[in-house]
Amino acid sequence: MWVYRSDIKTEPKPVPKHGLVSVHDERSHFYGTALYSSASQIAIRLISPVAVDAKEFPALLRQRVADAVSYRKRLVRDTDAYRVIFSEADFLPGLIVDRYGDLLTFQVLTQALDSDAMREAYVGALVKELAPATIMERVEERVRELEQLPKRESQVVYTRDGLETKGVEANTTFTMSGLRFQMDALGGQKTGAFLDQRENYAAAAKYASGRALDVFCYQGGFALHLARVCEKVIGVDSSRPALEAAEENAKANAAQFGGHEIEWIEANAFDLLRDYSDAGEKFGTVVLDPPAFAKSKKNLETAMRGYKELNLRGLKMLKPGGTFVTCSCSFHVGESDFREMLSGAAVDAKRQVRILEARGASLDHPNLLTVPETAYLKCVIAEVR
Ligand code: SAH
Repeated sequence: MWVYRSDIKTEPKPVPKHGLVSVHDERSHFYGTALYSSASQIAIRLISPVAVDAKEFPALLRQRVADAVSYRKRLVRDTDAYRVIFSEADFLPGLIVDRYGDLLTFQVLTQALDSDAMREAYVGALVKELAPATIMERVEERVRELEQLPKRESQVVYTRDGLETKGVEANTTFTMSGLRFQMDALGGQKTGAFLDQRENYAAAAKYASGRALDVFCYQGGFALHLARVCEKVIGVDSSRPALEAAEENAKANAAQFGGHEIEWIEANAFDLLRDYSDAGEKFGTVVLDPPAFAKSKKNLETAMRGYKELNLRGLKMLKPGGTFVTCSCSFHVGESDFREMLSGAAVDAKRQVRILEARGASLDHPNLLTVPETAYLKCVIAEVR
C-alpha cells in the first residue's frame, strides 16, 4: 500500500537513516511499518502490518528475496528470463530484479533500499538463491534524481568468479519457449527484453496464421514466435538498434522457422500503417504493442486517440477470420477504457471482434490487489470477422 505525501499529517523528524517508519492512522492506532521517502510523492510504502525493527529488516528482506524466487520456481515455465522481483508485488517496494539466463539485473527506486547495508542484503540473497554468473545494476538517471538518490552508473556489481567487476561486460543469451535471444546489457545497444510479454508471445502463436505484421516489434519478441507458424512476418519499429538486435535474434533461430521469412522495416508505425492501408495490404495476423502513450492521467485523451487510430488501422488490415493481438502497457488506460477504445475502433472499421483471450503480464509480474499499479499490461487476442 502507498500513502501520498499530501495525505500525511505528521512527517517523521528527523528522518531515520534506515528509512523505516511506523505508520499510525488518524486515531493514532498503529497501522504498520513502512519505507519512507523524503523526496517522492509516494512518501510511504507499507512493508508490514506489524512492527519491524531496523535490526530485523535485513533478515526480512532476505526472506522476501527467497520467497520471490520460490514463487517463480513454481510458476515460470519454458524460460530462463523472467522478473525475479517486482517491487511491491513481492513486498520489496522499489526493488526490481530481472533474470536473463546467468545474468541478473537490478534497479533500486527507493531511498530505503539504496543504502549499502540493504544492497548487501539483497545482492547476497540473490547470489545464494540463484547463483548467477553476473549481477549488474541498471540505473535510470531520471528516476534517481526524482527520488533524490546519489548519482550512480549502470555497472556490473558482482561476478561469480570474484574478479574485479569494473569494466566487466554484461553479455549473455537467454531463451523463451525454445527461442534464443541475445542480451548486451551494458554495451552500445543496451538490449534487454519486455519480459512481461513473454507468455503473450506464446499465446499469440497459438492462434496466428497467414502473413503476419508485428508493429512496434522491438527485438522481435512476437515476430520470432510468429515466424514458427506464419508464412511470412513483417516486423516494424522506429529504432534501428532494436531492429539490428531483432535480425541477430532471427538469424540465431532461423532453423525453427521452416523457411518462413522475417522482414524488418524501420518506420514510424503510424505512417507505415497509413501507407499499407492505402495500398490495400491484408494480413492474417496483426500485432500492436505500442509504447505507453499515456504516461500520466493528463494526456489520457490524446493517448486514447493514438490507440484508437492504431487499432482502427490494424483491424481494417486483417483478412476475415484473422488474428488480432493488441496491447497497452499504460497503467492509466484501464481495462475497461481499453475495451471501449477497441469497441469504437471495431465499429468504425465495420468489423466483428471475438475475444479469444484477455490477458495481462506474465505470471512473474504478479498483480497485488492493493497496489493497482502492478496491473498495467493489457493484451487482447481476438478473431476478427
Ligand atoms: N513488442 C515488443 C515491445 C515493444 S516496446 C516486445 O515484445 O519486445 C515499444 C517499441 O515501439 C520500441 O521498440 C520503440 O522503439 C517502438 N516505437 C516507439 N514509437 C514508435 C513509432 N512511432 N513507430 C514505430 N515504432 C515505435
